[in-house]
Order: sequence, then structure tokens, then C-alpha cells
Amino acid sequence: MIKGYISAAEAAKKWGITPRRVQNYCAAGAIEGVIRFGRSYGIPENAPKPNDGRKSAVYEEKTQLPGGIPIYEAGQCKVAVIGAGHAGIEAALAAARLGLDTIIFTINLDAIGNMPCNPAIGGTGKGHLVREIDALGGEMAVASDKAAIQYRMLNRGKGPAVHSLRAQCDRRKYQEIMKHTLEKQANLQVKQAEVVEIGVRDGRVCSVTTATGARFRCEAAIIATGTYLKGKTIVGEVVRDSGPDGLAAAGELSACLEAMGLPLRRFKTGTPPRVNARSVDYSRMEVQPGDEVIEPFSFQTDASTLVNSRVCYLTYTNAETHGAIKENLHRSPIYSGVIEGVGPRYCPSIETKVMTFPDKPRHQLFVEPMGLNTEELYIQGFSSSMPEEVQLRMMRSIPGLENAEMMRCAYAIEYDCVDPTALHPTLETKAVSGLYGAGQFNGSSGYEEAAAQGLVAGINAAMKILGRESMVLRRSDGYIGTLIDDLVTKGTEEPYRMMTSRTEYRLILRQDNADERLCHIGNRVGLVSDERLEAVKEKYAAVEKEMYRLEHTGLAPSEELNSFLEAKGTAAVLNGSSLADLIRRPQISYAALGEFDKERPALPKAVWEQAEIRIKYEGYIRRQMKQVEEFTRLEKRLLPENMDYSGVIGLRLEAREKLGQIRPRSFGQASRISGVSPADIAALMVYLENNK
Ligand SMILES: Cc1cc2nc3c(=O)[nH]c(=O)nc-3n(C[C@H](O)[C@H](O)[C@H](O)COP(=O)(O)OP(=O)(O)OC[C@H]3O[C@@H](n4cnc5c(N)ncnc54)[C@H](O)[C@@H]3O)c2cc1C
Repeated sequence: MIKGYISAAEAAKKWGITPRRVQNYCAAGAIEGVIRFGRSYGIPENAPKPNDGRKSAVYEEKTQLPGGIPIYEAGQCKVAVIGAGHAGIEAALAAARLGLDTIIFTINLDAIGNMPCNPAIGGTGKGHLVREIDALGGEMAVASDKAAIQYRMLNRGKGPAVHSLRAQCDRRKYQEIMKHTLEKQANLQVKQAEVVEIGVRDGRVCSVTTATGARFRCEAAIIATGTYLKGKTIVGEVVRDSGPDGLAAAGELSACLEAMGLPLRRFKTGTPPRVNARSVDYSRMEVQPGDEVIEPFSFQTDASTLVNSRVCYLTYTNAETHGAIKENLHRSPIYSGVIEGVGPRYCPSIETKVMTFPDKPRHQLFVEPMGLNTEELYIQGFSSSMPEEVQLRMMRSIPGLENAEMMRCAYAIEYDCVDPTALHPTLETKAVSGLYGAGQFNGSSGYEEAAAQGLVAGINAAMKILGRESMVLRRSDGYIGTLIDDLVTKGTEEPYRMMTSRTEYRLILRQDNADERLCHIGNRVGLVSDERLEAVKEKYAAVEKEMYRLEHTGLAPSEELNSFLEAKGTAAVLNGSSLADLIRRPQISYAALGEFDKERPALPKAVWEQAEIRIKYEGYIRRQMKQVEEFTRLEKRLLPENMDYSGVIGLRLEAREKLGQIRPRSFGQASRISGVSPADIAALMVYLENNK
């Protein structure tokens, strides 16, 4: 190295960061006096360590792009949304619907709202997110109902807390609907362009610049780049720079984000092959029909307009499939180490499943249609990154797929995403004011998780610009609150997938009452109309009225009633009973009591179902409400924003570090940080009490 200079590796060692981070600092011009030769950098040996991102970042806007591409002032907006996937769509619609000039950027207009994985919305825990997005005034539920080709309520055999709606969707139709919705939205421009730089001045976002040199001035920017940032697809030995579905990756932006001090890391996910329906033998599979009674995702969708126009099928892997995998494990990028990124524990590849559960003789696979006007089928449960020829052998060992024509092979994709503990609960970055993260970029996985975060980021970017109170959803408000709190408080070491077991309040956070829990918040921020909120209030007033009627309507003992009760396996009534008391019996449902309930008013299912659930689970609901009271008490005890934790007596070192890093909003959030004990919380309370 030239005298007075050190290499990126040496600088990395000196500053305790990765060499890749140093290279990005150099690329972004964040280190003064750097010299470049070929692909390497010479760093002045006395150069200070660039900003590590927790304090206000400076990112000098470039005057020209690499290759001497001139930059020109292309216009301005209030909110720039980088990405038109599930997160970006909700973010852009929210900001535009709140009256702010918004521009949404995407690498390919024809991939707006793309479903690079299963063409389905919802599922366990995810159905809850979609209902909550709808209750807050988001778009996903409405679009899903318009594009759905099959509905199934999962876990119907269990309690209502885990009932989860899932809809198979027509993938192309969903994209068309979302693209057209964006195009029609007032205050919103839709642009096909890759954003390669975000400008920051005095710690605040001020611009975004595209690969063609167009610079747009803005007051907020939302990063919703999904699986595209430094995207790399992997199929056996074939590794390519690419986004999903053969779309271009976004190669430039990562360097800029790291120069601002955002802590990026590599995650990965994978998808199964697609096959042509004409080559499938359905007679060797089990048909999976949709529900007879369809429940929509959106509270505003008329269920009578919905139909199931397709079925899915169920088949299984077998010993031959597992043998093909084991024989070729040395060629699996997961096991050969080609894949560096961390994958989702709850959506494992088939090779991981076979190796993790060696005693399991078979794994179930769902064969799902991808739309009405296509022969493409999606093989759910068969994600893989095995070489293509091995995939063919694996697939052709499966009953019904012996002659399957592979239209798209399975692949894994690695991408850059941020450590979500670098975000506030508003999803604004701690490093740069006005810069927000949403979706897969925040370390989550799934369309629904992405859309939920996009909505929150879009609302909060708008609230800040409008000088209004931000929207922070608590764990007790819903799955969205739980999702974001888990990400920004606990962080995640793998793509985070929502599940009903993630929340401690699942009995009161059901998908059926999302409107009651969240429409008033959607109305406060301005995305839910007063009329809609009024309708929700009327619905729940009707629920209360029906509950009152059930509590105060008695049934006298009769032969018919008692033989009905005995037939249901529950005791006869001797002195009569209220309808509510009968409903409290696990064997008795509201519907079944209809023949005895002569005065029963004609009520919508959404109303009587609520009354039934509240009566049946009254005790449990009351207990959970008590827990929520205790939780809210700690959540409301806010912590000073500029708190210096290093000086708090009685706090353990680990707690000081974690509290200093996460900078929790409240005692509640502080108590959920891993490594912060109840004793630390007590010490903090005493310290603040004494230093009032
Ligand atoms: C191969 C694969 C398999 C998957 N498997 C699963 C699974 O099994 N289970 C699951 O839950 N989820 C899975 N997913 C994840 C799911 O697709 C994502 O969670 C979801 O799409 C994330 O939505 P998003 O809005 O964050 O990002 P995406 O939907 O990825 O959208 C990102 C958007 O950002 C745009 N963009 C990116 N960079 C730039 C830039 N610099 N400038 C302008 N535009 C940019 C893109 O054009 C795109 O519009 C998988 C994804 C892939 C690719």
C-alpha cells in the first residue's frame, strides 16, 4: 500500500466494522481523501471512522453518477416511496390519500404488486394482518377480494382466536388491480426507475436520485425494496445478480444506505418450481376445495359477490424424493455454503425439511393454481435451490407430477435488508430523520407483513410532514403492533413471519374484530371515513344489544329443548335457562339455538358471531383485558428521548448497552428488550424517580 494509506481490510480492523462496510463508505464518498485503484481503495491512515449511524448522518449528494452520468433536477414531492411491492403500495397510497404529493418508484411497472412466491394472501396470523390493514384504511384486503379464486378459513376446528382466512389469488389480476389503483390515485405519480441514491442534509432526507440521473427533492423517503437490494438468485451452482422472477436487482442503493450508517445484513428466501397443469395427473392427488360459506378479507366486501372458481390439490413427497435430495446434498447451495444469507425458519426449503426431519416419511405439498388465465401451478412446500436437473428428478418422483413440465425452476434469493432495531416504532430510521423502512427490507417475510409495515410507514411519514401525532400501534392493539414491536425492540436474526403464537393477546386480537380495534385509529389519521366509522359503531352497538337480549331471554324447560341438549351431549335444563347461558356451553352454538329462539332478530353474521364469541369466551376475554391494562400502564410510562443510560446506577452493563442502542420509547418497550431484566427496569424507575 502507498505510504500514509491503509487498505479497506486494515481500516475495517481498526474501526471494528466489516471490510465491505468500509468499501461502501469509500464508494459513497463518506471518507475524505480516499484513493481508488481498480476495485481497491487506499484510505488515509489517520482518517476518522465514518459516522456509525446512530447520530444524525450526512450523505453528500453526488453531483454526477458513476460513469459521469449527469444529475438533473427532475422535480419534487413530499414523500418518495422506493418500491412498488406490497409495502410500497400501501405506503404510497396512504401518503397520497392523506393529501401529500407522493412519487412511487419501481424497477419494473409490470411487476407492481408482484407475488414472487405463492399467489395467496393470508394464512395463520397473516389473515389477521390483512383484516387489520383493511380496518386502518389500507388496500390489500380490497384487492385480494377482487383477485381471489379460492377461500379457506384455516383452523376452523379450533377457537376463533386462531381462525385465519387464506385466499388463493389470480396473481396477474392482483397486479393489474394494484397497478391501476396506484395510477388512478390523486396526488400520486408512478415511475419506472431504479433509485440509486438518497440525499441527506443536516441529518434529514432531502432527495432521491434515479439511475438515469433524475433527482427528486422530497421531505421523506420510504425504503420498500423487498428482495431486490443486491439481489442474487441461486439455483445449484448458478448464482446470478437478479431480483425475483428474473427481474433486475437493485445494485447501487445499499452502498448509500450503509454510508448513512444503516446496519445492513443478508437474508435469503426461496420459492418452489411452477409446472404446467396439462402435465399434471390430478387423479393421484387429493382435491382441496374452497369453503362453502365464504368470508371476505375486507369488511367492506359484500360476501355474496364472492365465489370459489378454482380448487387446490394435495400430494406428498416420498422416499424416492428424499433419496434424490440426500444423494445430491453436496450440490445444494444451502449445504455447500454458496448461500450466505439467513433463511426463514418457518418457510424452509424441501431439502432442509428432509434433512431436519429424517424420520418423516413424507412432506405434504399443495398444488395451487396461479390464476384463471394460466396453466401455471405453484408447488407449495417444495421450495428449493437445488440444481435444476436434481429438481426435475425430485419433482418427477411425486405422485401426480411424474410427467410434470417445469415452467419455472425453484430458486433461492439473497438480498440486503436492515437490522430493524435501527428503526423507531414509527418505522423511521434512528440515523436519518424522514427516512423510513418497510416490508422485507425491515427483515420480515411475507406479503401481509410487508403491506402492514408499508401502511404504518406511509401514515407516519405523512403525519410527520403534516406536523400531526404519529401512529404507533401497541402489541395490545393488534398483530401489526406486535409485528413492528417485535422487529424494532427484539430485532430478528432471520426473515420474520407472523404467526398467531407471536402475540400474547390472541383471544382479543381476533381477525373478526379488527374493525372494532382499529377503525377509530384509521379515522384519526384520516384514512377511514366518518361514515365508515359510524357504521362500525352501529355494528358493535348491535352486538351489545344482541348480547343483552341473549342474557335476558330465558327458555323454559321443555321436552324438545332437553332432548336437543342431550342430543348435543350436554345436560337438560330443569328450571329454564337464558339463551346466553346455553351458548356458554361448548356444545351449543348460537346458530343451533335458532329453533328455540322465537324472537330472534335477523342479524348479519358479523353481528351475531361477535355476540356468540364474547359470550362463549367472556372469562378468558376479561382476563386478557386485565393483562392489557397492566401492559398499557407500562407502555404509557414514556422514557426521555435523550436519556443517557450509561449513568444509571444499578443498571447492568448489558442493559446499559441494549437500552442505549434501542433507545426504547417507554418502560413497556424497555422491558421487552432481550438482556434487560425486571431488576434493570426497577433500577431505571428508581433513578428517574430520584432525578425528576
Ligand atoms: C423467491 C422468493 C420467495 C419467497 N418466499 C416467501 C415465502 O415462502 N413466504 C413468505 O412469506 N414470503 C416469501 N417471499 C417474500 C415475499 O415475496 C415478500 O415478503 C414480499 O414480496 C415483500 O414485499 P415488499 O413490498 O417488501 O417487497 P417486494 O414485493 O419484493 O417489492 C419490492 C419493490 O421494490 C422495488 N425496488 C427495489 N429496489 C429498488 C430501487 N433501488 N429503486 C426502485 N425500486 C426498487 C422493486 O421493483 C419492487 O417493486 C418470497 C420472495 C421471493 C422473491
